[in-house]
Amino acid sequence: MQIKKGIAVSPGVAISRAVVIDAEDVAIPRRAIASTAVTRELVRLDESLEESQQDIKNLREQAVATVGEDLAKIFDAHLAMLMDRPTVAQIKHSIETELVTAEYAVYSVMRRLAQMFSGQENRYLRERANDIWDLERRILGHLIGHSQQELAHLESECILIAHDLTPSQTASLDKNKIKGIATDAGGRTSHTAILAHALGIPAVVGLEDITSSVNNGDSIILDGNRGQAVIDPNAEQLLTFREYKRRATAFESSLDELRQLPAQTTDGTSIALQANIEFPDEIEPALGKGATGIGLYRTEFLFLASEVEPTEEKQYESYRAAVEACNGLPLTIRTLDLGADKVWLDGYTDHAERNPFLGCRSIRLCLQHLPLFTTQLRAILRASVHGPIRIMFPLISNLMELRQAKMILADVMEDLEEQDIAFAEGIPVGMMVEVPSAAIQASVFAQEADFFSIGTNDLIQYTVAVDRGNERIANLYSAAHPAVISLVRDVVRAGKRAKIDVSLCGEMGGEPEYTMLLLGLGLRKLSITPPAIPEVKQIIRNVTIDRCKRVMRKVATFETEHQVLHYLRAEMRRVLPDAR
Ligand code: PEP
Ligand code: MG
Repeated sequence: MQIKKGIAVSPGVAISRAVVIDAEDVAIPRRAIASTAVTRELVRLDESLEESQQDIKNLREQAVATVGEDLAKIFDAHLAMLMDRPTVAQIKHSIETELVTAEYAVYSVMRRLAQMFSGQENRYLRERANDIWDLERRILGHLIGHSQQELAHLESECILIAHDLTPSQTASLDKNKIKGIATDAGGRTSHTAILAHALGIPAVVGLEDITSSVNNGDSIILDGNRGQAVIDPNAEQLLTFREYKRRATAFESSLDELRQLPAQTTDGTSIALQANIEFPDEIEPALGKGATGIGLYRTEFLFLASEVEPTEEKQYESYRAAVEACNGLPLTIRTLDLGADKVWLDGYTDHAERNPFLGCRSIRLCLQHLPLFTTQLRAILRASVHGPIRIMFPLISNLMELRQAKMILADVMEDLEEQDIAFAEGIPVGMMVEVPSAAIQASVFAQEADFFSIGTNDLIQYTVAVDRGNERIANLYSAAHPAVISLVRDVVRAGKRAKIDVSLCGEMGGEPEYTMLLLGLGLRKLSITPPAIPEVKQIIRNVTIDRCKRVMRKVATFETEHQVLHYLRAEMRRVLPDAR
């Protein structure tokens, strides 16, 4: 039995067996297999060798056409190494006798070989080490790629253990079979964490070395409330967690009874509680949880879940499905926020960008790829005839960007008019306030935007200079930082002065300890992850605005995030003693 501590990012407790996915770009841990699994691992190895051979043959053909036969010969050397009988025999022997996964056998045998070459005096031989690394990555790529694809068709329930998962990998998981997610890497508001929460899958990230501590099939308890994983639990722990899980589920269902009740403070102030979604099919369950509209539709997930660029028609169908699912309730469609951790097709997002979160992401990427942007805007506008929508631009950092985005939108509208294609009139066009420059200049932006939605996930990372997905500095990433709170307050004030609608759609809005503070700061609309709606609503229904204002004033006297958080948690427990 072993307990690992990480960052709780999606609540709930799961008890199941582990399925481990290795990562090509980090060391492959020695993972044991049962003797009955040897044949399967050998078949996996053969398949990956064949596919790697085919890759190299294709690359060789391309190279002949582009750089000529002589240079293409480098691939002959790769092919020869790949088919080298003694090496392949060693890998198979390792699987059969040491009882390890095909991934580990490839990794360990080829590393040894590469080290042998890199220690040679002869320069030519030394350089062969690079060819071996290259080959090893290729074979591992196929082995790991297949395991990831298999995740979409699992036969039984499991807890997924991985070094890290990209948002698109998470989006394609079989939600009925994956009962929990545990990763070495990741932070509270990484998009994988957000998605796991939206899908209702308990998740713990930042466990640092869980992939090397677990074997496939190990029994695991994953506690997404307290951020821990128990590997090979004993009977007593299983009993304790089953009881804890039962109580947590009972608490959840008691909250579900709030669904039909209004989100209204005890002194009668109504708060709009809307939902953040990634896919249209999340809308119905979100409305079922009591959401009164969709405050953030992250449209980039349609792109992340497809291998080719979605056509205008495909996008239109998706946006139309979303509008119709809203049944007359408002839908805020955010234009593409690709880039940074939401890496998509080569040519659009850049894997090798040095500072991806400060790079060509989001609205910047759209403004540099106009056909991508205008196709999306056309699809959104066409869908607008089916129900009330708002259009929101992400990551606006200067006024020219907002103006440019609005101008392009106006051009697209003009084109549609010329083509007699219908779209709604008077669609509100707003922006995310998620970059400190936009927050500081909020009063200027408020003159040109119809609404603001404060994106605290990014606002925090840019204000305190902490990557939202990096587990090593996760302790520095905090919505309770006085500088972040002060920016939120300024944006709300600027919006109110300009009489425009202001909401908040970062994860902070779904964390019940912040609810009183946010109401005290003047927010009357929150867009949050659907599972958080009942708990936030319960806080709202038990406080007065005066009490929230007192909380806000007290928070303004603190100098550190620790003081703020400590105080807010205590206040929350006074309202909701059963809170997690
Ligand atoms: C945010 O940054 O707060 C936000 C809501 O957008 P995302 O999490 O998609 O970056
Ligand atoms: Mg953002």
